[in-house]
Amino acid sequence: MSWQSVIGLEIHAQLCTASKLFSGASTAYGAEPNTQASLVDVAMPGTLPVPNRAALDKAIAFGLAVNATIARHSVFARKNYFYSDLPKGYQISQYELPIVSAGALAVRLQNGRSIDVEIQRAHLEEDAGKSLHDAFHAATGLDFNRAGVPLLEIVSAPVLHSAQDAVAYLRTVHTLVRWLGICDGNMAEGSFRCDANVSVRRTGTQKLGTRTEIKNVNSFRFVEKAIEYEIERQIRALENGETLVQETRLYDAAAHRTLPMRSKEDADDYRYFPDPDLPPLAVTDADIAAVRAALPELPDARRKRYIEGLGLPDSDATQLCADKATADYFEAMLGALPGQAKTCANWVLGELAAALNAQNLAMESTRISAPMLAGLVARIADGTISGKTAKDVFAAMWAGEGDADAIVAARGLQQISDTGAITAAVDAVIAQFPMQLADYRTGNEKLLQFFVGQAMKRLRGQANPQQLNALLRDKLRSD
Ligand code: ADP
Ligand code: MG
Repeated sequence: MSWQSVIGLEIHAQLCTASKLFSGASTAYGAEPNTQASLVDVAMPGTLPVPNRAALDKAIAFGLAVNATIARHSVFARKNYFYSDLPKGYQISQYELPIVSAGALAVRLQNGRSIDVEIQRAHLEEDAGKSLHDAFHAATGLDFNRAGVPLLEIVSAPVLHSAQDAVAYLRTVHTLVRWLGICDGNMAEGSFRCDANVSVRRTGTQKLGTRTEIKNVNSFRFVEKAIEYEIERQIRALENGETLVQETRLYDAAAHRTLPMRSKEDADDYRYFPDPDLPPLAVTDADIAAVRAALPELPDARRKRYIEGLGLPDSDATQLCADKATADYFEAMLGALPGQAKTCANWVLGELAAALNAQNLAMESTRISAPMLAGLVARIADGTISGKTAKDVFAAMWAGEGDADAIVAARGLQQISDTGAITAAVDAVIAQFPMQLADYRTGNEKLLQFFVGQAMKRLRGQANPQQLNALLRDKLRSD
């Protein structure tokens, strides 16, 4: 009998607001410890939380993008537990009435199939502070800069059945929250992180098995490896007749294994109750309509438009829509080169992507703007330069030497389409290589390429290749 794995993800996306969820303190990353912790964030008696409107709108934007229900009244609840980085003794979260519920997200899997992943809920909550451990001084310090930073916790139903599918879903959410501009998606800084709930059951059975929760894995690759490891561990344990316990586990990437961290609390342990300091969060139809009106075209819709409207291959459309900055760049370029979608896609996904990758840059930091790259492509189209020369011009543009026209002029790269110059070069190589000429004329046609190469060399690689070829064929035959 075989096993089926069952996975549900809880994703924490930090909403990119200027100030915190319930205070005016800054959310900027990387400040000196405790320089961005207001009296509210450190729970001074007498302070009161005030909800951040921008965080609410960002949560609504997410809900609309996944076709979810937006609650007209949602409720902030206190989730009570003790930890040194949580000075109030409770986290303000949403429990019974989250702002977003019952959504779904279409996820394309590696094999090209698409699945609809049910999103049970997405709720607003505040982040906790951070403990900083100093091994040398055997001391722990507390940094409350992160305390109160707004999070959207996005909870999927347990409907994913492999580590690869779980990561495909995670990537799709990652693309979406960045596309919507509600989260910067920076996993290294913890702005986008996920807990993976994993269980296994006998294939063909319905009842869910006992699950474990792997906490805060911070890269796509490690999420995949952690889930894979956990699936195998559970199957091995069950086949050995062991009983699994519901618990929270940590992934040790270096050793590629998960380790128990704590037995899993039940909701009851948290003594959730509505926060008396915060009235129910009211959202009107007008609020929702305003957020909807500001939504960008969503990644899936745009990908379809590129395939059906522009005739791009599926793989090009998918890659262009992996992030909004790339898709926007492509469209800006296409605006300057109407009808040349495939050529634009080739440059964005080819030369430009390679240059960005080589320096580990995001599209936002590109050194060649879309109009500049369009300018280069236009010079190939009008015959000023060859496709081969264009790669050198691209490199020079990347190095900051100016736009295509300036570089072509400064370096004298114009393609030679002047018949006189080409004829002269052709005559010269024919005179230079009489043996090869004789050989060619007795039927060794492969030597054409030799003559093309020699003539191109004389013309510094800048001859119009079609013209050169035609002239050479002619002369080699007739003289
Ligand atoms: P809690 O609030 O205790 O974390 P939930 O019932 O809200 O628990 O579920 C949290 C996450 O765990 C969800 O993403 C859900 O899909 C997932 N999940 C629940 N039960 C299982 C299970 N048996 N196997 C895998 N994932 C599960
Ligand atoms: Mg949970």
